[in-house]
Order: sequence, then C-alpha cells, then structure tokens
Amino acid sequence: MESSAEPIKKFVIVGGGTAGWLAAATLGNIFRHSDVQIELVESEEIGIIGVGEATIPPLVDTLESLGIDLVEFIQATQATFKWGIRFENWRQNEHSYFHPFGELGQKIDGHEFYQCWLKLKSHGDSTPLMAYSPESLLSEKMKFFLPHQAMNTPLAGARFALHLDATLTGKYLRDYAQQAGVKRTLGHVESISKHLNGNIASLTLQSGEKVSADFYIDCTGFKGLLIGNALNSNYQDWSESLPCNRAVTVQTTIDQTDDIPPYTISRAQDAGWSWHIPLQHRMGNGYVFCDKYISDEQAITTLLKNVTGTVINEPKIIPFTTGIREKIWHKNCLSLGLAQGFLEPLESTAIHLVSKSLALFIRMFPAKTENSVLENEFNRRVRMDYEEIRDFLVLHYCISERQDTPFWQDWQHRKIPASLTQRLDFFSQQGGLIPEVEALFQSTSWYAVLDGMGIEPKRYNMTLDALDVDKLRASLAAGKLALTHSVETQPDHRSFLQKYCGVQFG
Ligand SMILES: Cc1cc2nc3c(=O)[nH]c(=O)nc-3n(C[C@H](O)[C@H](O)[C@H](O)COP(=O)(O)OP(=O)(O)OC[C@H]3O[C@@H](n4cnc5c(N)ncnc54)[C@H](O)[C@@H]3O)c2cc1C
Repeated sequence: MESSAEPIKKFVIVGGGTAGWLAAATLGNIFRHSDVQIELVESEEIGIIGVGEATIPPLVDTLESLGIDLVEFIQATQATFKWGIRFENWRQNEHSYFHPFGELGQKIDGHEFYQCWLKLKSHGDSTPLMAYSPESLLSEKMKFFLPHQAMNTPLAGARFALHLDATLTGKYLRDYAQQAGVKRTLGHVESISKHLNGNIASLTLQSGEKVSADFYIDCTGFKGLLIGNALNSNYQDWSESLPCNRAVTVQTTIDQTDDIPPYTISRAQDAGWSWHIPLQHRMGNGYVFCDKYISDEQAITTLLKNVTGTVINEPKIIPFTTGIREKIWHKNCLSLGLAQGFLEPLESTAIHLVSKSLALFIRMFPAKTENSVLENEFNRRVRMDYEEIRDFLVLHYCISERQDTPFWQDWQHRKIPASLTQRLDFFSQQGGLIPEVEALFQSTSWYAVLDGMGIEPKRYNMTLDALDVDKLRASLAAGKLALTHSVETQPDHRSFLQKYCGVQFG
C-alpha cells in the first residue's frame, strides 16, 4: 500500500501543565528517533493550576507505556498508592462506603459474582459486598503490595493507582519529554494567525517571536486559547447536571508516623464534597462546592475544619464550569486537559482523560491535510467518554438520602441525564449492568456505588435459581476466608513505601 498523504512534521503544544507535558512525553517517546519536531510553549508567569493529585489505574499503564520506572516515579513525585475511594457522608451523615478499583469476587459457574451475592443475600446472608473486594479489605487494614507479587493468591487481580504531587509530576514529565527531544520555549502566546482554510498558521509570543507547526495541541487550561479563542469551538456548559462550580484547596502536613491511607477520602459536605489525598510529604485537601449555596469564606471555614495536620499554604479558590468543548479536535488543533473539558474530580478522571484522548489521537493519527473524518469520529468518542463519566458522577449525588441542606434537597428534584435514568431503571429490574464497550467504569464500579448508597435491584437474575444455595454459601465463604488470610500477610502501606520503594519519611 502506498500513501501520498503528507505526514505531520512538527507539533506545537501550548501549555506546560500536566496535560501539556504528558502530551509532550507521549509524542516525544513515539517520535524519539524520527525527524518529527515537537515544541512546547509555556508561560511561567501564568503558571499551572497545580491540582490533580488523585489518579486511577490506567495512569500506571501510561507510565509503563512510556518506559517509566514506577519506583523512580514514586520517589520523584512524593507519590503514595491508592486502591480506591472512601466515600463518607454521601448516603447519610456518619455513613461511609468504598469504591474499589478492581473486581468483586470471582464468577461462579459462569454467573456474575454480584448476582451470586444478591441471591445469597435474598436467602438471609448479611455479608457485605465489600467483604469480597481485595482493595476494600486492603484499604481497611491500610495495607499495600504490588499485585503481581501476589500471584496465585486472591489478591493477584487487585488494581491500584497513585496519589501524586501535581507540580513534581509536571517536572518529571518535562524532564522525560526534554530527554526525548522535545524543545521547551518559555513565552506567552499573545496572538494566533490562521490560514484562509481556518487552520492555525502560527502563534506570536509576547517577545515577538513566531512559532509555527503543522499541528497544534491546546493545553492552555480552562481558557482554551487555541481551540476556543482562535477556532471558536464553544464550551458547552454541563452545570445543569453537575452544578458545583468552585473549589478551595489547601495543603496540610501529614503525620510522619501514622498510617498512610492507601485510598482517597471523598467526604460529602453541606454544599458539595471535600477531598483528602495523602502524599508522602503532605496532604492535599480541597472542597468542591456550588456558590449558589455557600460563599468562598464558608467553604474555606468548612475545609479547614475537615483537614488534619497543620495548614502549609494559603487556601486557594479555583472557579470552574463543568462541561466539554463542542469540538475537541478541530482543524489542525487538538485540545487536551482543562482546555478540552472538565468534570468535577470526584472520581479522579481528568488526567486519565488526557492519556485516553492522546491514545485515541495516536490510533487515528492524521496526515497533514486530511482530518474531518478522523476529527468527527474522535470527537464522538471522546464525548462518549465524558458522558459516561458525567453519568457516573451524577449517580453519586442523585441517589443520596441526604436532605439536610438546600444543596442536597435540590438534588431530589434535579434533572438527571436520560442515559443515567435509563441505566438505573435497567439496574432496578434484576441488577444486571451490561458494560459499554471501552467504558471506563465497568459494572463493578456501578455496583460499588449503588450498594454503598443502599440501592438494590428488585431481584437477582433468575438463571441463578439453578444454583444450589448451600453450595453457593460455601463457595463465597471459602473465597472470603482465602481473601482475608491473604490480606493479613501483606505489609502496611507506609512500610511498603519504605522497603520496596526506598521512600524515606521525615
Ligand atoms: C479543583 C480541581 C481538582 C482536580 N483534581 C484532580 C484529580 O484529583 N485528579 C485528576 O486527574 N485531575 C484533577 N483535576 C484536573 C487536573 O488538575 C487537570 O486535568 C490537570 O492538571 C491538567 O491541567 P492542564 O494542563 O490542562 O492545565 P494547567 O495546569 O492550567 O496548565 C495550563 C498551561 O497553559 C499555559 N498557558 C496558558 N495561557 C498561555 C499563554 N497565553 N501562553 C503560553 N502558555 C499559556 C500555562 O502557563 C500552563 O502551563 C482537578 C482540577 C481541578 C480544577
């Protein structure tokens, strides 16, 4: 097969936050031994947003695909491990549940584990669903180990992610990208000129220098300088579904002898929720809230009441609007990170969306001139990712029993996406949730949140009537016993970081 299409010879990435440097590292790695040039322009005066410290398991795969050594990365970014998220006060005050990353139990005679558990429950068994989750049990006991080191145990399939320092992660990725040949230009993009066909032609920096490329990647954060200002791809506001529109963040000290939770804490508050992310050297904390219900000052007071340790920095307010660009890839420009869209960080999905968008872009890699077919398909798929995540986030709120503040009362009447209503109706019949192809949140995640919030289907799938209850009970009990035993033998999280990752505390 012969191709006459002209290849892209130069990329310019604008923005040096996590999105920009992750894009630079990924493209730098791919084009390391070629004549394709990659240049990243960033403004040091503007700086980066500096949040984005909880991740999900695909980040570990991304690091691996870049050939990054996990231990080296953990040392460089003050990272800790994460098995999932502990949700506190979401169903009601004083109630908590866990959303683990991995699978729950094993299939029995081909039946989904959740269905087996439902059947046993309908026969009077009161064992909680999370008693069968490796990540939930490991979190409860503050333990960590690498699952591949526990082959042939019930823990082998456990999945983990990292908590990381956003600024240090940016620096690490920057070093990586520069070593892979990416050119870094410090400068403030002041104006953008276009060709007659509407493609971006060049960028002019404050210094007067002109920078041009065949293809541009907009990583300029919420402002979306290229995709929005220059190419007029509007930002579609999703605050009807996800009304929180501000966050206040603050860092606090972490006790250097206490257990380090191998999970993120998400605590529902009067007008939103707060996060608490343990790193090796500090805690990252934030309160995501809606300004219709409380002021910035009230949010700061609430956040400060919820933190542990001593406050290290001044609380910082970050305004945002949840939503997505109408066109994420438009003409010769791809937007990534906050320039592409934003869903509140309840399930730590933003950095993942950068990697996933990049991976998709690479699979669809355009030539210099052709783009509209690829562009349309790309935009359709990324939008599906956003819609899927939006629905999952809305789920956390809309099934809450809380009615103790106007924020939670309003959730009782809020219009929720039709796709979510349809899914909840489907679940209520017999509990089955059939995963969408390539969905990020598979059935286990939905079961964890639904069960954690006290939502159950009317009945289990009737094919399980053929399963003998006593055999089922014995099988689940044996699985639980093996799991509990395997968890006991694992090191605690802090010791693991010290011994296996060479982390030195204090
Ligand atoms: C409150 C909050 C909490 C979050 N928590 C999480 C989380 O737990 N997990 C997660 O995965 N994600 C989280 N995110 C998202 C995460 O922070 C971002 O996805 C990530 O940091 C990427 O940001 P960015 O690189 O797109 O933007 P930024 O970090 O804002 O970077 C923008 C870059 O563009 C540059 N720039 C802007 N204008 C110009 C110009 N004119 N000329 C030159 N350069 C320019 C800036 O200098 C900067 O380098 C959170 C976001 C928010 C708002």
